[in-house]
Amino acid sequence: MNVIAHGGVGSPREMDDDVLKAVRKGVVDDDVFGTVIDVVCALEDDPIFNAGTGSRMRLDGSIQMDAAVMYGGEVGAVGCLEKVKNPVKVAAEVYKGPYVFLVGQDAERFARGMGFESYDPSTEKRGEELLKMQNKLGEHQELKKVYDMVDGGDTVGCVASLDGEYAAAVSTGGTSFCIRGRVGDSPLVGCGFYAGEHGAVVTTGKGEEIIKRLSAYRCYAGIPEYGLKGACEMVVEEFTDGASLGVIAVGEEGVASASSKQMSQASL
Ligand code: ASP
Repeated sequence: MNVIAHGGVGSPREMDDDVLKAVRKGVVDDDVFGTVIDVVCALEDDPIFNAGTGSRMRLDGSIQMDAAVMYGGEVGAVGCLEKVKNPVKVAAEVYKGPYVFLVGQDAERFARGMGFESYDPSTEKRGEELLKMQNKLGEHQELKKVYDMVDGGDTVGCVASLDGEYAAAVSTGGTSFCIRGRVGDSPLVGCGFYAGEHGAVVTTGKGEEIIKRLSAYRCYAGIPEYGLKGACEMVVEEFTDGASLGVIAVGEEGVASASSKQMSQASL
């Protein structure tokens, strides 16, 4: 099996070991789908990352999380999900159908129905970050100006392949300076992730820019023509205007990644 995971564009390479720990913990023999879910779950459980426990807070101090999985032509996703430990596991329940994407309080209700207990993913570190954000807003007054400088961070994702089968999973607490209800690229098919017959791709960076460019699908679609690494580089090269993009991918050639700035990652 080939597996690669990331810890968010902008995260230092010193965090590679933390990503590797999650990859080692999550690999499930002969099961690409189980692997991407379990690796992302392990990353969600590590408070250093902005997903699950340790997710970034919204400007009002609440936490809303997005996650998605894709495998075998099927997708499961959740947006603005609150008070669960592992959003990616809820996305994996959505994956079983008949729906593709559940959001907000109704996604939470769905999770409770599936047996997910109420859980507070907040950490002290994110509380301190929130205070800094609120102070910054106080100084600048204008949310748009501050948000223009935002660049993603510490979101997690994993892709895996085995015998021509490809799977992707992603999870995030969103970027900084997010209001409630904001959804980025991560749970949107073709934006934050894609998996099909050529391979699987997961992206990280400023969701608003990734959504407009459909980066995950366009990377995936570029694999036959540009090769795995070339397709990753092609979508990253489009991010020249201040926003950053990170991409990981698996395909026939193995694993590849590209990013416009440092991005912690690990592969097996
Ligand atoms: N893409 C995520 C979002 O915009 C953030 C990230 O990748 O760090 O919600």
